[in-house]
Amino acid sequence: MTVGHAHVADLEACLDLINSVELTDGVPEEHLPTVQDAIAYFTTRNLAHDGPLRAQASVRPAAWLARVREARAALREVWDAAVEGRTVREGAVDTLNDVLAHAPRQTLRSTLAGVAVDHRHEDDVLAEALARVAEPLVAAIADGDTGRFRICANDGCRWVFEDTSRGGRRRWCDMSSCGNRAKVRRFRSKRRGADETGTTESGATESGPAGGS
Ligand SMILES: [Zn+2]
Repeated sequence: MTVGHAHVADLEACLDLINSVELTDGVPEEHLPTVQDAIAYFTTRNLAHDGPLRAQASVRPAAWLARVREARAALREVWDAAVEGRTVREGAVDTLNDVLAHAPRQTLRSTLAGVAVDHRHEDDVLAEALARVAEPLVAAIADGDTGRFRICANDGCRWVFEDTSRGGRRRWCDMSSCGNRAKVRRFRSKRRGADETGTTESGATESGPAGGS
């Protein structure tokens, strides 16, 4: 199927997936406990279509979810290896290469006014969505642009992030020292916010810039 719309992941989406296993004092918490949570990860970021993902996952749900988590672990391993300047485990490379082999292909299409770029959806919609998630990380590595990749210096946290501070000396997942608990709350409220956006965003124009006084 060829369609004329884009699904584009940025590095933030990739980090969100890696951080969906969250360590608190070294104890992992799974933020994608169900197939539905994993599907929501992709669809809320417009990385894939809900229907095809749902149909594919329904065949063998446990195996489907395991593929998401395996790719996530591989992304984590690649990130960690890049930050730590060490050899990446071969299994992680294999896993991501399998995923990247399903990256959607761009196709050109002639239009009345000239030419447009489409993409072709292949049959493995999960691998395709995961490829989109992996691509910004792969692109950063290709560009040698990993100098600001970080892992929180708190060994009980290891939250991954990109250091966008001016000096580039950020060591913790929050600005001062690792505020693990505060971060957990932030993640949860962000997720709640995402669930409710349909109802909360409409009132946003109410307090626009005042003209007078
Ligand atoms: Zn931290």
